[in-house]
Amino acid sequence: VSFGYEEVAPEEKTERVGAVFSNVAAKYDIMNDAMSGGMHRLWKDRFVRRVKPQPGEAVLDMAGGTGDIAFRMAARGAEVTVADINQDMLDIGVERAMDKGLTGLVWSCQNAEQLDYLDRQFDAYTIVFGIRNVTHIDKALREAHRVLKHGGRFYCMEFSTTEWPGFKEIYDLYSHEVMPKIGKAIADDEDSYRYLAESIRRFPKPAEFEAMIRAAGFANTRVEKILGGAVNIHSGWKI
Ligand code: SAM
Repeated sequence: VSFGYEEVAPEEKTERVGAVFSNVAAKYDIMNDAMSGGMHRLWKDRFVRRVKPQPGEAVLDMAGGTGDIAFRMAARGAEVTVADINQDMLDIGVERAMDKGLTGLVWSCQNAEQLDYLDRQFDAYTIVFGIRNVTHIDKALREAHRVLKHGGRFYCMEFSTTEWPGFKEIYDLYSHEVMPKIGKAIADDEDSYRYLAESIRRFPKPAEFEAMIRAAGFANTRVEKILGGAVNIHSGWKI
């Protein structure tokens, strides 16, 4: 497993990722706007339109962090549980929910690789910009499948490298040169953003990740590419 510049053992990755998100938690929301020029809001809106959460449906938003996806789904009447391995991220989410007057969300600190739930609890499982930080992605996917009801759906949005010629070079330059500098300027934290950029480069390409989703037991898998695959919405069904 690579962590920025250095290689670390898989068992250390979870700990390092914990440190990264504890460092960035306080500035996480402002950084998302700075890094994506506000575009992450549109991607998140689009993602939730694809998930189509229905009133009363039980949805697990894994790696839900400070609640961006959960709030959008709760606004549509779904019963949302936000789960994340990092309590600092969840604490900010709880505060944001209070500011928005949103009640009824459940916040839970847990690892996507080993969930506290019995089988077949949820109608939908979502994970946005989270799966690439998980140490054993295959385990997390199998857990997602396990906790979904039959007929339940899996939706994941994650970065990858774009296939658009020209844009790829700009994107590489942006993520490796500009992102860490914005991290330094706004959050005084260059290393965390260097890790986040590096983790995007290392994440499996969309076709390979789709094969992993199928291997975990999901059917009717699909990928919707945004910006030539810089951002991808993956989906699959438990049948
Ligand atoms: N989904 C939110 C969003 O789109 O704004 C947060 C995304 S944030 C980039 C990634 C989140 O993944 C962090 O909050 C981090 O703590 C969480 N995470 C990393 N590894 C995890 C794991 N093994 N299990 C659960 N959450 C994890």
